[in-house]
Amino acid sequence: MKVTINNRILEADPGETVLSVAAGAGISIPTLCHMEGLPPTGACRMCVVEDMETGNLIPSCSQPAFDGMKIKTHSPKALTARRTIVELLLANHPDDCLYCIRNGCCTLQDYSEELGVRQRRYNGERSTYDLDVSSPSIVRDPDKCILCGKCVRVCEEIQGVSAIDFVGRGSDTRIGCAFEEGLNVSSCVNCGQCIMVCPTGALSEKDDTARVIAALRDPEVTVVVQHAPAVSVTVAEDFGIKQGTDIVDRMNGAMRRMGFDYIFPTSFGADLTVIEEASELVERINSGGPFPLFTSCSPGWIKFMEEFYPDLVDNVSSCKSPQQMLGAVIKRLWTGENGINPRKVFHVSIMPCTAKKFECDRPGMREGSVRDVDAVLTTREFIRMIKMFGIDLDLVTGEPADSPYGECSSAGRIFGASGGVMESAVRTAFYMLTGADLPTLEVRELRGLEGIKEVAVNIGELELKAAVVSGLGNARKLLDCILAGEKAYHFVEIMTCPGGCIAGGGQPFTADPQVIKSRMTALYSIDSAASVRTAHSNVSLKKLYDDHLGKPGSHAAREMLHTSYAGREVLK
Ligand code: SF4
Ligand code: SF4
Ligand code: SF4
Repeated sequence: MKVTINNRILEADPGETVLSVAAGAGISIPTLCHMEGLPPTGACRMCVVEDMETGNLIPSCSQPAFDGMKIKTHSPKALTARRTIVELLLANHPDDCLYCIRNGCCTLQDYSEELGVRQRRYNGERSTYDLDVSSPSIVRDPDKCILCGKCVRVCEEIQGVSAIDFVGRGSDTRIGCAFEEGLNVSSCVNCGQCIMVCPTGALSEKDDTARVIAALRDPEVTVVVQHAPAVSVTVAEDFGIKQGTDIVDRMNGAMRRMGFDYIFPTSFGADLTVIEEASELVERINSGGPFPLFTSCSPGWIKFMEEFYPDLVDNVSSCKSPQQMLGAVIKRLWTGENGINPRKVFHVSIMPCTAKKFECDRPGMREGSVRDVDAVLTTREFIRMIKMFGIDLDLVTGEPADSPYGECSSAGRIFGASGGVMESAVRTAFYMLTGADLPTLEVRELRGLEGIKEVAVNIGELELKAAVVSGLGNARKLLDCILAGEKAYHFVEIMTCPGGCIAGGGQPFTADPQVIKSRMTALYSIDSAASVRTAHSNVSLKKLYDDHLGKPGSHAAREMLHTSYAGREVLK
């Protein structure tokens, strides 16, 4: 089909909308409610364009393209309509930009600026709802909500959770949880994917930067920081450095300038997780199950399992996540070895994830009253801190992490991408079962951004069947097939966020799949260039077992590195 948009004749395939044809030609039409890959709702009407044959305004997100149509995307009529929509939204919006977490990265603010809104034309009663700060991970500010519905859709249609929905009618319509309760008592798994799609400051992560800065200022406190593998390949994006650049050394340098006393990569914890999880898999292979073994490093998935699939609790690995394993080792072993009072250590974790804020609060993640991780910052909070401290990442000298947990294998770094945990564990399980390394360490079938991936790996006599899932809606599909007996695996990796931690709910905002891909490519490039590519070759890790833990799965390892789950938990 031939469609004329802004006097350009463009090709369109059947089923394409005006919005997608325009986007394919690099013509950007503003939208507030459109979600790539999901059916259009046409709720916000920001994407109206003018049909030059009829003079009518039509929503480009839901209007199918047809042969011969003539469209102007930015005609005076379309622009006036869009400006009026923004003005009407602002009529019921707090003038809060200077205090708002999204100041400078808010779609409503951007459109208001682009459309030249310079005064409040419509005055009326404004909504005044209470902030919902009940969740350990997410803050909801309903006054800033423009009812685009994207959070509801991502929660239901992508994550299969349905913790939030439209509540009330007419001018009283708002987004809320069942029975007007806070997010903490809903089925919310703290994934933060709703924050990622929210165009305004109505949803944000719970900000822990003030607590971290207070610890950095306290001369009595030793501040230890760990940072996840999916952070160092995304931070650069916010500083004008090429997407997908790994700046782990510069990040270390920046953290030292901020005043962090010790820096360790979470990938050391990931190596530990690989060893413990692979040994759990080997034990189940030797004793005949139960299968499948599910990975346990994604806290949103753990809450999802506890909430919706509690019967699978015995199938889930008892391993703590890398964050919590490293936290336990630092607070319970490293402090003793270095003569530091663990009560005087503040342990900060920098994560791509909002659910990690929930995880570090879970029972079992402390020894007595000493927490293993004291505060979790998302990548976005960390970026805000770098800017607050006036640090120019371009001018920072790279520095190594500290010993002894600064050494990590690249198996611990690919954890950041969907399939990375499985690939790393397969490398080590193969070694544990055969005494040799996989002929090629790379298990390419497990790589990529597809929601569900499957592989069969021959390990001696055994054909190990494995699946990798990212996004909880995909997990629901696979779990239902497994429970119905339609699929059978030995080992299943489930990551809460679509694509894995590289697209976690705490990462810098992006709607561009190419950006996520560049983060993934960066992690696999790190792996292919690394000299230590398996967790079982990590010399510092071997020493940790020799000196303290004994064998993988030993009593000491289970006490420190494993946990348990049970039905639904409510963290107040
Ligand atoms: S949500 Fe956007 S427009 Fe509203 S106060 Fe925050 S920055 Fe301003
Ligand atoms: S954090 Fe995740 S589960 Fe919770 S409301 Fe948002 S999308 Fe739903
Ligand atoms: S909270 Fe955000 S994503 Fe959800 S409806 Fe409101 S503005 Fe849209």
